[in-house]
Amino acid sequence: MAEAAFQRCINPDCGAEFGCNESYFKCPKCGDLLDAVYDWDKVNVPARLADFGKRWASRDNRLDFSGVWRFRELLNFCDDKFKVSIGEGQTLLQRNDMLAEFIGMGKGCLHLEYEGLNPSGSFKDNGMTAAFSHAMMVGAKSCACASTGNTSAAVALYAHHCGLKCTVFIGSGRIAFGKLSQAMDYGAKTIQILGDFDDCMKQVQAVCTELGLYLLNSLNPFRLEGQKTIMYRILEGLGWEVPDWIIVPGGNLGNSSAFGKAFGELKQLGLIDRIPRMAIINATGADTLTELVNNRGLKWNGGNVDNKIIDDFYGELTAKNFSPHTCASAIEISRPVNLKKCLRALDICNGVVRAVSDEAITDAKALIGKFGLGCEPASAATIAGLEVLLGEGIVKPSEKVACVLTGHCLKDPNVTVNYHKENSGKYSNAPIECANDLEKIIELMNTD
Ligand SMILES: *Cc1c(COP(=O)(O)O)cnc(C)c1O
Ligand SMILES: [Zn+2]
Repeated sequence: MAEAAFQRCINPDCGAEFGCNESYFKCPKCGDLLDAVYDWDKVNVPARLADFGKRWASRDNRLDFSGVWRFRELLNFCDDKFKVSIGEGQTLLQRNDMLAEFIGMGKGCLHLEYEGLNPSGSFKDNGMTAAFSHAMMVGAKSCACASTGNTSAAVALYAHHCGLKCTVFIGSGRIAFGKLSQAMDYGAKTIQILGDFDDCMKQVQAVCTELGLYLLNSLNPFRLEGQKTIMYRILEGLGWEVPDWIIVPGGNLGNSSAFGKAFGELKQLGLIDRIPRMAIINATGADTLTELVNNRGLKWNGGNVDNKIIDDFYGELTAKNFSPHTCASAIEISRPVNLKKCLRALDICNGVVRAVSDEAITDAKALIGKFGLGCEPASAATIAGLEVLLGEGIVKPSEKVACVLTGHCLKDPNVTVNYHKENSGKYSNAPIECANDLEKIIELMNTD
C-alpha cells in the first residue's frame, strides 16, 4: 500500500520524486512545492463513493469514525498503524434556506459546510490528522508551525496527542483570542515574533531546517491530503451529487489547493462525472491572489507558471514595506505559500477569485450567525463573496453552492462583540442597557 504513494515536485521542468518515508517541505532539487501522488492501479479504491458512506455503520472502528480516514484509500500514504485520530471531520453540511432566501438564492441551493465542529474548532484538524500520521511514520520527535491562530491550535492539540514536542510561531498582536487561548492551554511553546504571518512563515522554515523539526504548515503535502476530505464530505452531504460551486476563503491557499486536487483525482478515478467550479475569496487587505490572477494574468499554464509576475509583485510589496491588514486574521497573508498549487486548482475547477472588504465580511458573518451556525470572520468571506458573484451573474440563484465555513464562531469573539456593540454594521444587534427596575424592563420589552 504505502509503495503505491510517493512525493513529486509540481514543477514540470523538475518533476523529482521521493518516497513517502522522507520528509521535506520543499523540493530538495528545485525548491518548488511537493505533491503526494498515487499509483492508483495499486490502490484498492472502492467502486462507488457511496461505499465510503457505508462506513458510518461501523463507527466503533476508529478509522471509520474519523471523517478523514473514512476516505483512507484516497489518501493512502501510510500504514494504518501510524494513523492518528482524535475524532476529526465529524462536521455538518447544513442546507440553509433562510440565508439562501435572504441573499436571493433558490430553496435548496445554499449549503454551509461547518468545519468549526472539529476537535480544535477549525478545518485545520483535517490536515493535521494526516500530517501527524506522516510525522509518526517518519519518527518525528519535535514539530513546529507558523500560524495566524488556527494552525497553532490544531498543531498543539495533535502534537500533545502524539507525544511530540511542539513550538508555534505567531505574529505579534495578530492572533484572535480564542486561538491563542488554545495554543497555551494545549501546552505548546508559543513564540510571538515581532512581525506578521509572512515573517513567521519565513522564520519557521529556517528553524525547521536548522533544528530538523517536523513542519506542519500547508507546505507539508500530507497535510493537504487530509484537507481533501472536506470535499468528500460535502459530496456525501449532497447524496454524492456534485454541486455547481465550492466557495472557500483564501489565505495561505492550502484548502483551495487541496480541493482542486481532490476533484481532479475523483474525476480521474471515475468517481464523479464532472468537477464543480470554485470561488476563492480574499479580504481586500490581503488580496495577493486576486491581484495576481485578475489583474496581472497569472495562470497555471500546465505548470509553467510565470515566476516573474510573482517576483515583481512581491518586490513591490517589499519596496512599500507592505503588511496585510484585515479583521479576518486567518486570511491575513500576503505571500501565500501554496500559490502555485492554487493556480492548478483554479485551472482544474474553472475557478474565479474575488476580494471582499472587512465591512462585507463582518456583515456576512452576522447573517451566518443569525441564520446559520455562526463562524469566524475569515469563513464569512465565503458568503460575502457569494453575494458579489450573484450580483455579477457569475453564480446563478438556482445553482447549488457549498460554502466552507472554516472556523468556529467562538474563535474570535472580539470581532463579533465589537461589530454588535458599536452598532457599526448593517446587522448589528447591540445589548440594551436598562435600569434594575421591573417597570422599565417591561417598557423595553414592549418596544421592538
Ligand atoms: C487557515 C484558515 C483559513 C485559510 O485557509 P488556507 O488554506 O490557508 O487558504 C481560512 N479560514 C480559517 C478559519 C483558517 O483557520
Ligand atoms: Zn523540484
